Amino acid sequence: MKDRKLLMIPGPIEFTPEVLRAMGMATTSHMAPNFIEVFGQALERLRQVFLCPSGQPFVIAGSGTLAMDITAANLVERGDKALVVNTGYFSDRFAAILERYGATVTQVRAPAIGDAPALEEIEATLKTDSYKLMAVTHVDTSTAVGVDVKGLAALGRQYGALVVVDGVCAVAGEEMRQEEWGIDLALTASQKAIGVPPGLALVVAGPRAMDAFRQRKTAVSNYYADWTQWLPIMEGCESRQPRYFGTPPVNLIWALNVSLGQILDEGMEARFARHRRLSEAFKAAVTALGLRQVPVSPDKTATTMTAPYYPAGVDSKVLKHIEEAGVILAGGLHPAIKDRYFRIGHMGAVSASDILATVGAIETGLARAGYGFEAGVGLAAAQEVLRSA
Ligand SMILES: *Cc1c(COP(=O)(O)O)cnc(C)c1O
Repeated sequence: MKDRKLLMIPGPIEFTPEVLRAMGMATTSHMAPNFIEVFGQALERLRQVFLCPSGQPFVIAGSGTLAMDITAANLVERGDKALVVNTGYFSDRFAAILERYGATVTQVRAPAIGDAPALEEIEATLKTDSYKLMAVTHVDTSTAVGVDVKGLAALGRQYGALVVVDGVCAVAGEEMRQEEWGIDLALTASQKAIGVPPGLALVVAGPRAMDAFRQRKTAVSNYYADWTQWLPIMEGCESRQPRYFGTPPVNLIWALNVSLGQILDEGMEARFARHRRLSEAFKAAVTALGLRQVPVSPDKTATTMTAPYYPAGVDSKVLKHIEEAGVILAGGLHPAIKDRYFRIGHMGAVSASDILATVGAIETGLARAGYGFEAGVGLAAAQEVLRSA
């Protein structure tokens, strides 16, 4: 198709033909046995993808922000203390949502944009008070900062806080072992590394999160988000019993089940390794082209996306040139540096060819924007990594 462009933004991503075909199937009743079978299977597969065998999955129509809202609505009661490990735009959002449900929020902020708070600083804060919940953004999509979720979760556990991970730009791309790492709740949205068109809020709550919900003294103040309504639906689907609360997005759930099947066919370990390798190749290209990245160091950097600064003399107009060369990228999002950098998502079914096509289009765009560099240097650097694997 001559007008086809590659969508390489941090969600929505490129979806597989099988997933897109499921979107186009004739919609059945949300109570039909064949649909309940698929919904039940998708819930079982979610546990495997989140690596959380004792988790309770929730699949609810909405975006990632609804998954955050559902989490706060069900786990927070007025006056609860919450700690937010703040790495950028989406951590700010989580803090605002937690406050909306009555939490008193303490934020530990990264020392600089592109950095993450040190574990020692988080521990020092956890020592000062009794926090019911600690919220962590696995990959902050505004900066491409990836945090040490394993280390943070261990700390949260040690000090008795429920560990909540916003994995919207991470789950099924970034390594995350929910149960083994002691994460009490992880959430994502369909359109990112899970690889399904936008429209599903996905949450897996571990036993401690479900206990905290059951021990609430006050009712959940959001009607739609209330697990009291959704738990019987999810349990019903898993025992293949149709039940109704709100009409589920039938086609999206078919598509979800197809994508989760593809993810599990690849295997979680292979999937984590592929994301690491492709990320390394892409970042090598960016560096070879002379572009600095927003994350301050490689150990603070996501593998699902990359956020390079524009080089001197280049601005956001280069994105138009890159699009003309066939690849759609995203501009900046973090308000403090919005016009100084751009973002590339490389997650889900992304392949080595996608990486090379993207680097090629970036080279073409940079050349058209008048930036001086040795032609092909980015492609060579990416190839070097891809070949050695
Ligand atoms: C995209 C994203 C969200 C918000 O998801 P929506 O589907 O846009 O509501 C939240 N957190 C992170 C880390 C994200 O990347």
